Amino acid sequence: MSFVEIDHVDRIYPLANGGTYVALRNVDLKIKQGEFISLIGHSGCGKSTLLNMVAGLDKPTRGGVILEGKQITSPGPDRMVVFQNYSLLPWLSVRENISLAVDEVFQNKPRGERKGIVEHHIDMVGLRQAADKRPGQLSGGMKQRVAIARALALRPKVLLLDEPFGALDALTRGGLQEKLMQICEESHVTSIMVTHDVDEALLLSDRIVMLTNGPEAHIGQILDVSIPR
Ligand code: ADP
Ligand code: ADP
Repeated sequence: MSFVEIDHVDRIYPLANGGTYVALRNVDLKIKQGEFISLIGHSGCGKSTLLNMVAGLDKPTRGGVILEGKQITSPGPDRMVVFQNYSLLPWLSVRENISLAVDEVFQNKPRGERKGIVEHHIDMVGLRQAADKRPGQLSGGMKQRVAIARALALRPKVLLLDEPFGALDALTRGGLQEKLMQICEESHVTSIMVTHDVDEALLLSDRIVMLTNGPEAHIGQILDVSIPR
């Protein structure tokens, strides 16, 4: 059984003019536990749409998205998304941004254990010195480290990354790619990343999936390439 299964998925958007727009047509994809998959393809080919359906932020018009045998119908902490724009709360410190999520999701765990999870993940991304700073006092790379720490602190089954390094300069991006590679290897979390950057996909992925959906391309075709390690 696949860990994540995208099963004959269509996503057809209704348009204001009464027509429809086919963003995904008949997409099939099976993902194994612990795999790191990159979704690539030209702008508008449906990468974010597919990621959002695994997140439960969007629903297929036809077909299903299945995690461990269960249909995904809504968002949940077992599938955390890291967005390009970090989505941190600007009035909270690094530590508070992470602990807010940890306290909410792990309400039943003792306070000491929750604090331990938070501190462990602050260290994991190398932000000990910045733990009391607010997002406005951090560089882009540091903000994205916070978002990654917050996502992984919730121990998701699937980590979803939507152009996570798209807003960063090349040097910062390189450093964070290395860090993410290390973290994913250690945590064995199943990951799906949307990226424009083929080098990034080659560096991080076990498999690269190219979507060729879109108005100009042949709809429904997937190019699926395994990366030898
Ligand atoms: P990508 O992430 O590959 O750039 P998206 O998944 O964001 O592509 O979008 C796929 C296509 O669906 C795009 O052409 C986009 O314009 C269209 N689309 C996305 N959301 C909507 C919507 N709510 N209504 C209509 N069209 C949409
Ligand atoms: P990285 O994400 O790899 O740390 P950055 O370019 O984000 O790369 O930052 C490099 C280093 O510079 C950081 O680790 C941090 O020590 C320091 N730094 C950058 N911007 C700031 C800032 N606004 N406030 C404090 N330290 C910063």
